[in-house]
Amino acid sequence: MRIHLLPTQLVNQIAAGEVVERPSSVVKELVENSFDAGARQIHIDIEQGGARLIKIRDDGSGIDKDDLPLALSRHATSKISTLDDLEHVASMGFRGEALPSISSVARLTLISRTEGADCAWQVRADGTESNFDPQPDPHPKGTTVDVRDLFYNTPARRKFLKSEKTEFDHIETLIKRMALSRFDIGFRLTHNQKEILNLKPALAPAEQEKRIASICGSAFIDQCVKIDFASSGLELTGWVGLPTYSRSQPDMQFFYVNGRLIKDKLVAHAIKQAYQDVLYHGRQPVFVLYLTLDPALVDVNAHPAKLEVRFREGRLVHDFLFSALHRSLAEVRPGQQQNTVT
Ligand code: ADP
Ligand code: MG
Repeated sequence: MRIHLLPTQLVNQIAAGEVVERPSSVVKELVENSFDAGARQIHIDIEQGGARLIKIRDDGSGIDKDDLPLALSRHATSKISTLDDLEHVASMGFRGEALPSISSVARLTLISRTEGADCAWQVRADGTESNFDPQPDPHPKGTTVDVRDLFYNTPARRKFLKSEKTEFDHIETLIKRMALSRFDIGFRLTHNQKEILNLKPALAPAEQEKRIASICGSAFIDQCVKIDFASSGLELTGWVGLPTYSRSQPDMQFFYVNGRLIKDKLVAHAIKQAYQDVLYHGRQPVFVLYLTLDPALVDVNAHPAKLEVRFREGRLVHDFLFSALHRSLAEVRPGQQQNTVT
């Protein structure tokens, strides 16, 4: 075969292979877009574990009528323009590939209205056909993305979907994780029309603790110490579990870098070391931690789904995390009576 350029549709489906692993990855991309749009309230409606419907509605800035077709085009973004922007990026998105990827493997409808517009406008794309000619719609200010029949046109991918319950569990866990990164936003999650989560915006510390309790269980706040450390431009805040409050699985560990939930070996190592002397062998610590640093010091473009980051000064970050946690744990009064949960 001679060399030829691939059709756009196929290019998008290849990109979808990296970004859209399962229904929860669609939810992640769409909710991140709502974050970037300055939403205060996000509604997430799911049917059949997301295989039938994923619908995300926000009250954010919306998209200009003329930009709607671009929103569904590859490498089109409103978030960065230059390499310098990329190196300082503070938004969740910047690659301009989520919407085109999703629309290449599902039936997608995008409805959006900006402040001051007379009405909302709607465009559609479904992997084979698209209607980028915006149609009027009564939607209020903000955006709704309606994604139906995920992987309907890629049977090999659809086969990998797990049971409705498993896929929904992934979505629920994801929304809880995202809700812990943005206390200022309200989240409502439904599955098959049944309300599963309804988290009001939580600005006061007491409301924040309530949100944490509803996500991590009510013991969490009682069994954790609140921390707030800053040094050399790095800040670490959040809650760390007392050594006596540990788990058999690493299922209550949340680590955010500049608001982004990540998995990172260096971070995991620093935390493990800090707990090393105080935790029984094989037990897993419990924490909700927020690391804030200059976006220029962390490369978030290390993974298509942005689950990994690269720290420009890894050693500094590692040592900062270790000493902040080590000190917090050392400050806990010896003999303080706590219960262990499993
Ligand atoms: P990225 O987020 O990387 O820019 P996406 O494909 O996710 O790429 O979205 C493309 C563009 O569509 C965004 O840059 C943004 O301008 C617009 N957009 C997507 N979702 C929303 C939303 N919920 N509210 C406002 N604008 C949105
Ligand atoms: Mg995006």
